[in-house]
Amino acid sequence: MIKFENVSKKFSSSIIALDDINLEISQGEFIFLVGPSGAGKSTLLRILTREITPTSGQVSLDKVDITKIKESEVFKLRRKIGFVFQDFKLLDDRTVFENVALTLEALGKDDDEIRKQVEHTLKLVEIWDRRNLFPRQLSGGEAQRTAMARAIIGKPEILLADEPTGDLDPKTAWGVIQLLNEINSWGTTVLMATHNSEIVNSLKRRVVTLKGGKIIKDSKEGKYDL
Ligand code: ADP
Repeated sequence: MIKFENVSKKFSSSIIALDDINLEISQGEFIFLVGPSGAGKSTLLRILTREITPTSGQVSLDKVDITKIKESEVFKLRRKIGFVFQDFKLLDDRTVFENVALTLEALGKDDDEIRKQVEHTLKLVEIWDRRNLFPRQLSGGEAQRTAMARAIIGKPEILLADEPTGDLDPKTAWGVIQLLNEINSWGTTVLMATHNSEIVNSLKRRVVTLKGGKIIKDSKEGKYDL
């Protein structure tokens, strides 16, 4: 379970990205995070990866307050979390295969296991035929699928996705959503920030709406309603 308790993040005295957030997320939920630009969606996701530390409040994951863990322990937290952010952060000098294999190398898996799992995952996201290409040789959709493969291969407890369909054409965007649904059906909690109202309205999942750093709405089977 993920629990935000009275979480605020001030970047300066005038920039309050999150303002007293209280939010509970159960294991296995699929949640859309919506709200206008600057509402605080990315900040909320990046607090979970410990890229950002809140100014006040507690954030617990499996009862551990992640705002308090030492810098040297952050890697353990990140093992539980897969993330797909819009700036894919693929390594330019590694192939698709190598980019995805990195996650498992970090988990200390042996080469045989890595080869098998990378093949399985690249086939799942339908980019196995692109495995030897470098990121600059990929289309936006293929790069996004590579980022997705890298995020899911370690079977994370939680998957965070920040605008994962942002620059994609509708067909590719739906492919990404199907994949997120499938990952969720394995028991992974999915938290996705998006502006895509069509996707939010079709999936009928929990929708948390942020505005000005506050949660202004939290509804089960919600709608995109700003
Ligand atoms: P969203 O993802 O909903 O667009 P963000 O979480 O990116 O919103 O941003 C919330 C607010 O915090 C915005 O006003 C943004 O400009 C500000 N902000 C985000 N990151 C930083 C940063 N690193 N330094 C200063 N201000 C930031």
